[in-house]
Amino acid sequence: MAAVKEIQHFVGGKTIQAGSRSSDVYNPATGEVTGKVALATSDDVKAAIAAAEKAFPAWSATPALKRARVMFKFKELLEANANKLAEIITAEHGKVFSDALGEVQRGTEVVEFVCGIPHLLKGEYSENVGTNIDTYSIRQALGVCAGITPFNFPAMVGMWMFPVAIACGNTFVWKPSERDPSVSLLIADLLKQAGLPDGVLNVVQGDKEAVDTLLTDPRVQAISFVGSTPIAQYIYETGTKHSKRVQALGGAKNHMVIMPDADMDQAVDALMGAAYGSAGERCMAISVAVAVGDAADKIIQKLKPRVEALKIGPGMDDSSEMGPLVTKAHLEKVLGYVESGEKEGAKLVVDGRNFKAKQQGYEKGFFMGGCLFDHVKPDMKIYKEEIFGPVLSVVRTQNYAEAADLINKHEFGNGTAIFTRDGDAARTFVNQIKVGMVGVNVPIPVPVAFHTFGGWKASIFGAHGVHGPEGINFYTRQKTITSRWPTGIREGAEFIMPVMK
Ligand code: NAD
Repeated sequence: MAAVKEIQHFVGGKTIQAGSRSSDVYNPATGEVTGKVALATSDDVKAAIAAAEKAFPAWSATPALKRARVMFKFKELLEANANKLAEIITAEHGKVFSDALGEVQRGTEVVEFVCGIPHLLKGEYSENVGTNIDTYSIRQALGVCAGITPFNFPAMVGMWMFPVAIACGNTFVWKPSERDPSVSLLIADLLKQAGLPDGVLNVVQGDKEAVDTLLTDPRVQAISFVGSTPIAQYIYETGTKHSKRVQALGGAKNHMVIMPDADMDQAVDALMGAAYGSAGERCMAISVAVAVGDAADKIIQKLKPRVEALKIGPGMDDSSEMGPLVTKAHLEKVLGYVESGEKEGAKLVVDGRNFKAKQQGYEKGFFMGGCLFDHVKPDMKIYKEEIFGPVLSVVRTQNYAEAADLINKHEFGNGTAIFTRDGDAARTFVNQIKVGMVGVNVPIPVPVAFHTFGGWKASIFGAHGVHGPEGINFYTRQKTITSRWPTGIREGAEFIMPVMK
């Protein structure tokens, strides 16, 4: 058994040993405790906010071009350390190594996006809006910003936030998930190596006590949150009550519509990746397949053997397609949903509940097999709630209108997709569906870094999504200047025209 490591905070450019409480961190593949993460007290968090506040004046006055240079260097370091970062993610989250590498890559793309920060911060100018009056607008940093992130993308979701905030001239306090906290510390160290001044990025490990301090401390100007919907709502309500700008992204229940004319093999391939990839622990996972007309029988027939044949095992084993769930408690929650689906009368076509890893040393890992339900009805708990596990529900509808209506009436509106060869159906879907991110023959339509990521309905609280143009707007505020200067050159003033050659 490996030694249990201490996972600490990173404040003012240094690792800080603080916090009297701690929480166990597991390797989900073995089920063993591998770390103890410090849980910050309110005073620990206040010290991190103070470090960020101290660093703000100099950092916000640093030219955007110089801030971009730090980001360029950071991007290089992320690339050089991608394997190391991915190994840490797999060891605490459980996802397979290739997924962890993909996560690092997607986070790095946000850093790449903000390397263009001088251009992204350019303002607008209108000459002569009145006689001799000019108007221009600029975007300025807010001050100390904070980010609170979920377990399922321990590197990427943080990198949706702090690279944009910091590039815009803010300073930042990041509170990662206490379930897989280690990767945040390597990321902070890489940024320091890239030349980021101490105090610009701080990491506090912790739980509700840390979060509540960030939400209420008057020095924090803006809060970014990604996690489950009840907590997102709490963050939004508490943060705004304390006069902060808040963006809070919540949970999801993403539907994929399969029209009768779709390429069924392509749709089934897409479902395998989108429903079972990362063991379904993705906010953009497809958890409901809406099969229209005779698509249902074809889909079930093709899906069943594929789900049964899923290769499940430790994330560091190259042959694994799906790893364990993050914790025992989460595994039990997901198994409870499968039981509830059966009780409510859905047909369990593939039952992955009794799966055990075959590899030696992984018998106590938090594994389960893929589950597939058919004949799921909209009033069932497995349809209404987010399961966040490798469980796909197939809902059968007679026609397109019924399928679209289901999606539009669902509480969540994060992502959705349609698989069809019919351009009219695809266009109608894109135009009318009440969901923030839509795919056409693309199962997981995650926007690239220079576009904005964000859902609708109970999947988001607050007006702004993350990264892309809305990310820049969230982390800056606009100032508009109207100026009038006397015409002509004053008597006695010396004015030398530059000589043009
Ligand atoms: P979670 O809501 O349990 O935790 C998220 C963060 O909030 C963590 O840092 C946690 O420490 C903190 N937290 C938990 N309980 C708290 C409380 N009572 N008060 C204050 N802070 C608290 O979410 P999770 O289980 O880590 O992540 C999974 C959830 O995140 C899923 O619902 C998933 O859909 C969602 N998610 C959404 C997106 C998106 O973009 N919309 C992306 C990734 C994950």
